[in-house]
Amino acid sequence: MSVDGWFTHSFASTARYRSRYPQRCGEALDEALYSTEAYDPWRGLDPGRGSPVFSRLAALPALTKRELRAWGPQGFVPHGRDIAEGLAAREIELVATSGATGDQVSNVWYQPWWNASEAASWQLNAHARAVATGAHREAILTSPWCAGFPCEDGYLTMEQRTLGRFLYLSERSDPSSWTGHLMDRMVEELNLFKPVVLEANPSFLARLSRYIVRRRLRVHSPALIVLTYENPSTLHRRQIHRAFDAPMASSYGATEAGYVFMECEAGRLHQVTNTCHVDFLPFAPEHGGPEVGRILVTIFGNPWRSLVRFDIGDVVRLDGHLPCSCGQREGLTLMSVEGRTVNLTLTPESRAVTQGTVDQAMGSVAGLVEYQILQTGSSIYHLRFVAEGSASGGVAKEACDALQTVYGPAAVITADPVEAIAPDPPGKYCLSKKLDPIDPDVLLDHRFAPKEC
Ligand SMILES: [Zn+2]
Repeated sequence: MSVDGWFTHSFASTARYRSRYPQRCGEALDEALYSTEAYDPWRGLDPGRGSPVFSRLAALPALTKRELRAWGPQGFVPHGRDIAEGLAAREIELVATSGATGDQVSNVWYQPWWNASEAASWQLNAHARAVATGAHREAILTSPWCAGFPCEDGYLTMEQRTLGRFLYLSERSDPSSWTGHLMDRMVEELNLFKPVVLEANPSFLARLSRYIVRRRLRVHSPALIVLTYENPSTLHRRQIHRAFDAPMASSYGATEAGYVFMECEAGRLHQVTNTCHVDFLPFAPEHGGPEVGRILVTIFGNPWRSLVRFDIGDVVRLDGHLPCSCGQREGLTLMSVEGRTVNLTLTPESRAVTQGTVDQAMGSVAGLVEYQILQTGSSIYHLRFVAEGSASGGVAKEACDALQTVYGPAAVITADPVEAIAPDPPGKYCLSKKLDPIDPDVLLDHRFAPKEC
């Protein structure tokens, strides 16, 4: 429906869009259905151009990594463009992603579109708007298998890890095995390179931050820290804040879909409406809906990739009850990204618990450094944790009490202190998961569940 030249979304009623936005969604959808091979099976499900575009999208299935693999990258290239020609002309590259939930997927990578998507995300945060010019110095601390130069045996020089305006701080992918010497080097290089932006995997930067605080090292604070690659934990944010005197913003996206949400200076996540549309699929009320649900992403304006209703595999919590104080009015606004669907656990009564809910409870446990919860049975949970200093007994008791408030009195919770917790390959921490994963489709409010193809 139209209100003062803006449009409100069909079910996420808090979202508003500029009047040109539905047309961009329609163009992306028509391109997929009528110029791209992989969407042939969807064409018969489209109610047609006479229907409102959000209703047309809602009538279609979700696109998963299974389809990306089955059709291959060429299946998603519109208008008869040819990948072999694009590669030969060096206009595009092929990039493989493994992801946490599926096997390897090959994606067409078109750098100008990726840059435009990133630049659009910067407009949603006042600090990024002020300093991110696209020519700024940027240090990156993440798994080198995600970005950078991996070297697990031996070390690379600073020069070998520098690419244009980017410095990759670590060639090693497991922070639990970083030596003091390696972290001293990272601090020295930050002081030397003086990045304007530090882009980091939050668990990696938290590990470095704990070292900086413990050793009382002096470190250059960038104008902005951008947290990406994984969902930041409350604990990680707090540890980073102790070491760096810089504002932080969480940037959310995926190799397949570009930049999707950016945290503003008021702490909410806003949709990058210039380059994508997001369909929100609420969970049933007993699983946290309608505020909590899954998202499907449709991208705009990438000449080499038509992506419609891509299931990005994450759970989010909406926050659109009041206009955000940053002034951003358009698109979905999130209170948080709650973690991946593979991070969901269940209470003994079979109600879904997001990683974000677990993390919020664990954030208040004094002396807790890191943790990981594994649900091994319908009411059995095991906590591994790292405690500050030697007071692990008190931390264990407080952490188990916090988990009991999340999972309820029927939950049986055990806890073990450990020296360190290593990330899962290719370098992402998992805070919670169920041994036998949950089918996320069964959690949805069935009125909004994607159609079967
Ligand atoms: Zn805001």
